[in-house]
Amino acid sequence: MHYNGPIVRPYTDADSLIIEVTVGCTHNKCIFCNFYKGIDFQIATIEQIEMDLKEASRLVPRDIKNVWASGGNPYALSVEKLTTIAKLIRKYFPQAIISMYARVDDLCRKTVEDMMHLKDLGIADIVVGIENGYDPALSYVNKGYRSADILEGCKRLEKAGVDYRIIYLGGLSGAGKGDLAAVASAKLLNRLHPYYMFMTTVAILPGTEIHVSAQNGEFEEATELERIKEFRMLIGELRNDMIIDSRSVANMVPFVAQIPRDKEKILHLLDKMIQDFSDKDEEAMHGRRSELLSV
Ligand code: SF4
Repeated sequence: MHYNGPIVRPYTDADSLIIEVTVGCTHNKCIFCNFYKGIDFQIATIEQIEMDLKEASRLVPRDIKNVWASGGNPYALSVEKLTTIAKLIRKYFPQAIISMYARVDDLCRKTVEDMMHLKDLGIADIVVGIENGYDPALSYVNKGYRSADILEGCKRLEKAGVDYRIIYLGGLSGAGKGDLAAVASAKLLNRLHPYYMFMTTVAILPGTEIHVSAQNGEFEEATELERIKEFRMLIGELRNDMIIDSRSVANMVPFVAQIPRDKEKILHLLDKMIQDFSDKDEEAMHGRRSELLSV
Protein backbone atom coordinates (compact mmCIF):
# COMPACT_ATOMS: atom_id res chain seq x y z
CA MET A 1 0.00 0.00 0.00
CA HIS A 2 1.20 3.51 -0.72
CA TYR A 3 0.86 6.12 1.98
CA ASN A 4 2.96 9.15 1.14
CA GLY A 5 1.71 11.70 3.62
CA PRO A 6 0.05 11.89 7.01
CA ILE A 7 -3.18 9.89 7.14
CA VAL A 8 -5.85 12.10 8.65
CA ARG A 9 -9.29 10.55 8.96
CA PRO A 10 -12.12 10.67 11.49
CA TYR A 11 -11.63 8.22 14.38
CA THR A 12 -15.05 6.80 13.52
CA ASP A 13 -13.63 5.56 10.21
CA ALA A 14 -10.72 3.63 11.66
CA ASP A 15 -12.12 0.32 10.34
CA SER A 16 -12.48 1.56 6.75
CA LEU A 17 -10.11 0.47 4.04
CA ILE A 18 -7.86 3.50 3.54
CA ILE A 19 -6.86 4.19 -0.04
CA GLU A 20 -4.57 7.13 -0.77
CA VAL A 21 -6.22 9.33 -3.36
CA THR A 22 -4.58 12.65 -2.59
CA VAL A 23 -1.85 13.82 -0.25
CA GLY A 24 -2.15 17.12 1.60
CA CYS A 25 -4.72 19.87 1.30
CA THR A 26 -5.33 22.25 -1.61
CA HIS A 27 -5.70 25.16 0.81
CA ASN A 28 -3.19 24.42 3.58
CA LYS A 29 -3.55 27.94 4.98
CA CYS A 30 -5.81 27.66 8.01
CA ILE A 31 -3.78 29.28 10.77
CA PHE A 32 -4.59 26.63 13.40
CA CYS A 33 -3.83 23.56 11.28
CA ASN A 34 -0.60 21.58 11.20
CA PHE A 35 -1.93 18.45 9.46
CA TYR A 36 -0.02 18.97 6.24
CA LYS A 37 2.64 21.55 7.12
CA GLY A 38 5.32 21.57 4.44
CA ILE A 39 3.50 19.03 2.28
CA ASP A 40 2.44 19.97 -1.23
CA PHE A 41 -0.93 18.80 -2.49
CA GLN A 42 -0.50 15.76 -4.70
CA ILE A 43 -2.85 13.45 -6.52
CA ALA A 44 -2.18 9.72 -6.45
CA THR A 45 -1.75 8.20 -9.89
CA ILE A 46 -4.44 5.87 -11.16
CA GLU A 47 -1.77 3.16 -11.39
CA GLN A 48 -0.93 3.58 -7.71
CA ILE A 49 -4.59 3.52 -6.68
CA GLU A 50 -5.22 0.35 -8.68
CA MET A 51 -2.10 -1.30 -7.29
CA ASP A 52 -3.33 -0.56 -3.74
CA LEU A 53 -6.84 -1.78 -4.50
CA LYS A 54 -5.45 -5.01 -5.95
CA GLU A 55 -3.30 -5.54 -2.88
CA ALA A 56 -6.19 -4.74 -0.55
CA SER A 57 -8.49 -7.12 -2.43
CA ARG A 58 -6.17 -9.98 -1.45
CA LEU A 59 -6.38 -8.96 2.22
CA VAL A 60 -9.97 -7.87 2.88
CA PRO A 61 -13.34 -9.27 1.73
CA ARG A 62 -14.79 -8.01 -1.53
CA ASP A 63 -18.02 -7.05 0.21
CA ILE A 64 -16.52 -4.48 2.62
CA LYS A 65 -18.83 -1.56 3.23
CA ASN A 66 -16.48 1.38 3.76
CA VAL A 67 -13.54 2.86 1.91
CA TRP A 68 -11.89 6.04 3.18
CA ALA A 69 -10.40 7.96 0.26
CA SER A 70 -7.43 9.51 1.97
CA GLY A 71 -6.12 13.07 1.74
CA GLY A 72 -7.05 16.51 3.03
CA ASN A 73 -9.76 17.09 0.44
CA PRO A 74 -10.00 14.56 -2.41
CA TYR A 75 -13.39 16.03 -3.33
CA ALA A 76 -11.40 18.92 -4.85
CA LEU A 77 -10.53 16.65 -7.78
CA SER A 78 -12.36 17.03 -11.06
CA VAL A 79 -15.55 15.08 -11.64
CA GLU A 80 -13.73 13.13 -14.38
CA LYS A 81 -10.91 12.13 -12.05
CA LEU A 82 -13.27 11.23 -9.22
CA THR A 83 -15.37 9.20 -11.66
CA THR A 84 -12.34 7.15 -12.68
CA ILE A 85 -11.29 6.63 -9.06
CA ALA A 86 -14.79 5.69 -7.87
CA LYS A 87 -15.23 3.19 -10.72
CA LEU A 88 -11.90 1.64 -9.87
CA ILE A 89 -12.76 1.33 -6.19
CA ARG A 90 -16.13 -0.20 -7.06
CA LYS A 91 -14.44 -2.65 -9.48
CA TYR A 92 -12.64 -4.21 -6.51
CA PHE A 93 -15.18 -3.41 -3.77
CA PRO A 94 -18.59 -3.17 -5.44
CA GLN A 95 -20.58 -2.48 -2.28
CA ALA A 96 -18.30 0.11 -0.72
CA ILE A 97 -19.51 3.53 0.33
CA ILE A 98 -16.62 5.86 -0.43
CA SER A 99 -16.08 8.54 2.22
CA MET A 100 -13.72 11.49 1.97
CA TYR A 101 -13.02 15.00 3.21
CA ALA A 102 -14.16 18.03 1.25
CA ARG A 103 -13.57 21.70 1.77
CA VAL A 104 -16.54 24.00 1.42
CA ASP A 105 -15.07 25.54 -1.72
CA ASP A 106 -14.79 22.06 -3.27
CA LEU A 107 -18.54 21.69 -2.76
CA CYS A 108 -19.24 25.09 -4.27
CA ARG A 109 -17.25 24.16 -7.39
CA LYS A 110 -19.45 21.12 -8.07
CA THR A 111 -22.99 21.18 -9.36
CA VAL A 112 -25.83 19.18 -7.82
CA GLU A 113 -25.73 16.98 -10.94
CA ASP A 114 -21.99 16.37 -10.44
CA MET A 115 -22.65 15.34 -6.85
CA MET A 116 -25.52 13.03 -7.84
CA HIS A 117 -23.34 11.40 -10.50
CA LEU A 118 -20.52 10.82 -7.97
CA LYS A 119 -22.97 9.52 -5.40
CA ASP A 120 -24.26 6.95 -7.88
CA LEU A 121 -20.67 5.75 -8.22
CA GLY A 122 -20.31 5.33 -4.44
CA ILE A 123 -18.95 8.72 -3.30
CA ALA A 124 -21.84 9.06 -0.93
CA ASP A 125 -20.44 10.23 2.39
CA ILE A 126 -18.60 13.54 2.70
CA VAL A 127 -16.94 15.01 5.78
CA VAL A 128 -16.70 18.80 5.84
CA GLY A 129 -14.71 20.76 8.41
CA ILE A 130 -16.98 23.78 8.50
CA GLU A 131 -15.40 24.79 11.89
CA ASN A 132 -18.22 27.21 12.74
CA GLY A 133 -20.70 29.64 11.19
CA TYR A 134 -19.25 32.85 12.62
CA ASP A 135 -17.73 34.89 9.79
CA PRO A 136 -15.22 36.96 11.81
CA ALA A 137 -13.67 33.71 13.12
CA LEU A 138 -13.66 32.02 9.71
CA SER A 139 -11.96 35.06 8.27
CA TYR A 140 -9.43 35.37 11.13
CA VAL A 141 -8.30 31.75 10.82
CA ASN A 142 -8.12 32.06 7.03
CA LYS A 143 -10.59 29.28 6.20
CA GLY A 144 -11.03 30.71 2.72
CA TYR A 145 -14.83 30.75 2.81
CA ARG A 146 -17.71 32.35 4.66
CA SER A 147 -20.83 30.99 6.34
CA ALA A 148 -22.87 31.75 3.21
CA ASP A 149 -20.57 29.41 1.28
CA ILE A 150 -21.08 26.68 3.89
CA LEU A 151 -24.81 27.02 3.41
CA GLU A 152 -24.49 26.93 -0.37
CA GLY A 153 -22.09 23.97 -0.52
CA CYS A 154 -23.97 21.84 2.02
CA LYS A 155 -27.32 22.62 0.41
CA ARG A 156 -25.93 21.27 -2.86
CA LEU A 157 -25.02 18.01 -1.11
CA GLU A 158 -28.52 17.82 0.30
CA LYS A 159 -30.14 18.45 -3.06
CA ALA A 160 -27.98 15.69 -4.52
CA GLY A 161 -28.98 13.34 -1.68
CA VAL A 162 -25.39 12.94 -0.49
CA ASP A 163 -24.97 12.15 3.21
CA TYR A 164 -22.53 14.40 4.98
CA ARG A 165 -20.87 14.94 8.32
CA ILE A 166 -19.50 18.20 9.65
CA ILE A 167 -16.79 19.19 12.08
CA TYR A 168 -17.44 22.00 14.56
CA LEU A 169 -14.39 23.58 16.13
CA GLY A 170 -15.20 25.35 19.39
CA GLY A 171 -12.99 28.08 20.81
CA LEU A 172 -12.02 29.28 17.36
CA SER A 173 -13.33 32.80 17.95
CA GLY A 174 -11.07 33.30 20.95
CA ALA A 175 -11.83 34.55 24.43
CA GLY A 176 -15.18 36.17 25.07
CA LYS A 177 -16.69 35.29 21.70
CA GLY A 178 -17.90 31.71 22.16
CA ASP A 179 -21.51 32.85 22.50
CA LEU A 180 -21.36 34.76 19.23
CA ALA A 181 -19.91 31.72 17.45
CA ALA A 182 -22.53 29.40 18.98
CA VAL A 183 -25.47 31.58 17.99
CA ALA A 184 -24.21 32.21 14.44
CA SER A 185 -23.41 28.52 14.00
CA ALA A 186 -26.79 27.36 15.29
CA LYS A 187 -28.51 29.79 12.92
CA LEU A 188 -26.57 28.25 10.04
CA LEU A 189 -26.89 24.61 11.12
CA ASN A 190 -30.62 24.89 11.69
CA ARG A 191 -30.91 25.42 7.93
CA LEU A 192 -28.84 22.31 7.18
CA HIS A 193 -29.18 18.54 7.66
CA PRO A 194 -25.83 16.85 8.33
CA TYR A 195 -26.35 13.43 9.87
CA TYR A 196 -23.33 13.68 12.16
CA MET A 197 -21.39 16.46 13.84
CA PHE A 198 -17.91 15.98 15.27
CA MET A 199 -17.72 18.58 18.00
CA THR A 200 -14.26 19.47 19.13
CA THR A 201 -12.34 22.55 20.19
CA VAL A 202 -9.24 24.19 18.88
CA ALA A 203 -5.84 23.31 20.30
CA ILE A 204 -3.13 25.92 19.86
CA LEU A 205 -0.48 23.68 18.36
CA PRO A 206 3.22 24.63 18.23
CA GLY A 207 4.36 25.51 14.74
CA THR A 208 1.03 27.03 13.69
CA GLU A 209 0.39 30.70 12.99
CA ILE A 210 -2.27 30.87 15.66
CA HIS A 211 0.31 29.69 18.19
CA VAL A 212 2.51 32.67 17.30
CA SER A 213 -0.51 35.00 17.56
CA ALA A 214 -1.39 33.54 20.95
CA GLN A 215 2.16 34.00 22.17
CA ASN A 216 2.40 37.63 21.09
CA GLY A 217 -1.02 38.41 22.56
CA GLU A 218 -2.85 39.00 19.30
CA PHE A 219 -5.11 35.96 19.84
CA GLU A 220 -6.51 35.34 23.28
CA GLU A 221 -7.43 31.72 23.80
CA ALA A 222 -10.89 30.88 25.15
CA THR A 223 -10.86 29.32 28.58
CA GLU A 224 -12.00 25.73 29.04
CA LEU A 225 -15.13 26.97 30.78
CA GLU A 226 -15.93 29.26 27.85
CA ARG A 227 -15.58 26.32 25.50
CA ILE A 228 -18.05 24.26 27.51
CA LYS A 229 -20.45 27.21 27.58
CA GLU A 230 -20.10 27.56 23.81
CA PHE A 231 -21.07 23.88 23.39
CA ARG A 232 -23.96 24.35 25.78
CA MET A 233 -25.27 27.35 23.91
CA LEU A 234 -24.86 25.73 20.51
CA ILE A 235 -26.60 22.47 21.47
CA GLY A 236 -29.33 24.42 23.24
CA GLU A 237 -30.09 26.31 20.02
CA LEU A 238 -29.89 23.36 17.61
CA ARG A 239 -33.06 21.91 16.13
CA ASN A 240 -31.25 19.35 13.95
CA ASP A 241 -31.77 15.61 13.90
CA MET A 242 -28.20 14.28 14.08
CA ILE A 243 -25.55 12.61 16.16
CA ILE A 244 -23.15 14.86 18.06
CA ASP A 245 -19.82 13.22 18.79
CA SER A 246 -17.37 15.12 20.99
CA ARG A 247 -14.85 12.34 21.67
CA SER A 248 -11.85 13.93 19.96
CA VAL A 249 -8.55 14.20 21.77
CA ALA A 250 -8.75 18.03 21.82
CA ASN A 251 -12.09 18.08 23.56
CA MET A 252 -12.18 17.65 27.31
CA VAL A 253 -15.91 16.88 27.55
CA PRO A 254 -16.42 13.65 25.60
CA PHE A 255 -19.93 12.36 24.79
CA VAL A 256 -22.00 10.97 21.94
CA ALA A 257 -25.59 12.11 21.71
CA GLN A 258 -28.43 11.73 19.25
CA ILE A 259 -30.37 14.96 19.15
CA PRO A 260 -33.17 15.80 19.68
CA ARG A 261 -33.59 12.52 21.64
CA ASP A 262 -30.69 13.12 24.08
CA LYS A 263 -30.68 16.90 24.00
CA GLU A 264 -32.08 17.53 27.48
CA LYS A 265 -29.76 14.93 28.99
CA ILE A 266 -26.67 16.54 27.43
CA LEU A 267 -27.76 20.06 28.34
CA HIS A 268 -28.26 18.93 31.91
CA LEU A 269 -24.79 17.38 31.95
CA LEU A 270 -23.19 20.54 30.58
CA ASP A 271 -25.16 22.78 32.96
CA LYS A 272 -24.00 20.69 35.89
CA MET A 273 -20.43 20.88 34.66
CA ILE A 274 -20.61 24.65 34.25
CA GLN A 275 -22.13 25.05 37.68
CA ASP A 276 -19.47 22.91 39.41
CA PHE A 277 -16.52 24.11 37.33
CA SER A 278 -13.51 25.05 39.46
CA ASP A 279 -10.15 26.73 38.88
CA LYS A 280 -8.61 23.31 39.36
CA ASP A 281 -10.71 21.91 36.47
CA GLU A 282 -9.64 24.84 34.30
CA GLU A 283 -6.01 24.24 35.10
CA ALA A 284 -6.20 20.47 34.53
CA MET A 285 -8.06 20.72 31.21
CA HIS A 286 -5.93 23.54 29.91
CA GLY A 287 -2.79 21.67 30.96
CA ARG A 288 -3.88 18.62 28.98
CA ARG A 289 -4.75 20.72 25.94
CA SER A 290 -1.48 22.63 25.95
CA GLU A 291 0.49 19.38 25.82
CA LEU A 292 -1.08 18.38 22.50
CA LEU A 293 1.25 18.43 19.51
CA SER A 294 -1.35 17.27 17.00
CA VAL A 295 -5.06 16.48 16.98
S1 SF4 B 1 -7.98 22.72 8.45
FE1 SF4 B 1 -8.50 21.49 6.66
S2 SF4 B 1 -8.76 22.99 5.02
FE2 SF4 B 1 -7.61 24.02 6.63
S3 SF4 B 1 -5.46 23.71 6.08
FE3 SF4 B 1 -6.03 22.05 7.50
S4 SF4 B 1 -6.63 20.36 6.16
FE4 SF4 B 1 -6.66 22.23 4.91
